[in-house]
Amino acid sequence: MSRTVYVNGSFVPEEDAKVSVFDRGFLFADGVYEVTSVLGGKLIDFAGHAKRLERSLNELDMAAPCTMDELLKIHRELVRLNEVDEGLVYLQVTRGAADRDFVFPEGVAPTLVLFTQSKTLIDSPAAKKGAKIISIEDIRWGRRDIKTVQLLYPSMGKMMAKAAGADDAWLVEDGFVTEGTSNNAYIVKNGRIITRQLSTDILHGITRAAVLRFAREAQMEVEERPFTIEEAMDADEAFTTSASAFVMPVVSVDGAELGDGTPGPVAKRLREIYLDESQKVAV
Ligand code: PLP
Repeated sequence: MSRTVYVNGSFVPEEDAKVSVFDRGFLFADGVYEVTSVLGGKLIDFAGHAKRLERSLNELDMAAPCTMDELLKIHRELVRLNEVDEGLVYLQVTRGAADRDFVFPEGVAPTLVLFTQSKTLIDSPAAKKGAKIISIEDIRWGRRDIKTVQLLYPSMGKMMAKAAGADDAWLVEDGFVTEGTSNNAYIVKNGRIITRQLSTDILHGITRAAVLRFAREAQMEVEERPFTIEEAMDADEAFTTSASAFVMPVVSVDGAELGDGTPGPVAKRLREIYLDESQKVAV
């Protein structure tokens, strides 16, 4: 069965879903995106993703393609049409199509594309095993708080991890971990959860915000500060968070096994809490 994709106002079969070769997302990576997970046919943390999308658009002086209410309707309709029970909705907005010029065009309509991917997320073998992480230098641009489609370096980072026999990479700048290639990074030491504070250095993860709130509500200690790879190698456990992987335990960092080399209790508990609580308020 062909998927239905949303492109600029229309729901069309994926073979017919097309954008212009002059689209600035294609030519300049002049676009932003969001990924919202779907569990039991419902959207997880939609309000957070919509709010961050608005912020990304504002920071880049890019027009919103529609209201956030309309966006919710499009998400829901796409999930319904594609019968997604578990998976994700990918959304991308670009500045639109115009003759190639570095200067932003005026009066051009933004491009809006959404598609779904059905995928097993909860019962993930990777989450049961835990991820092996390597560290690499963070050479990305300085506005990582804006969720742009410039994903070449994160993609290269995942390839470097794969080549090293690992699952993912954490990015290190000036001696401190910023975040993972496509997730926020945490270590746990003596019961304290440590993760870098929000700034333009990292993406303000929607899952991060929810997980930290649940951790505090469960009386866990949270410290928002930068940490080094050496601290991570010496941690009791570690994990990452993202919309499509929720809470992913980390079992080794640069070859150093954490704890007994299996997912740690804090990561496992936070994964359970996040899955329970976020589904209760899913839309
Ligand atoms: N950091 C980066 C660089 C990411 O690409 C992502 C998700 O794609 C995250 C963090 C996690 O953000 P969220 O929890 O909103 O998915």
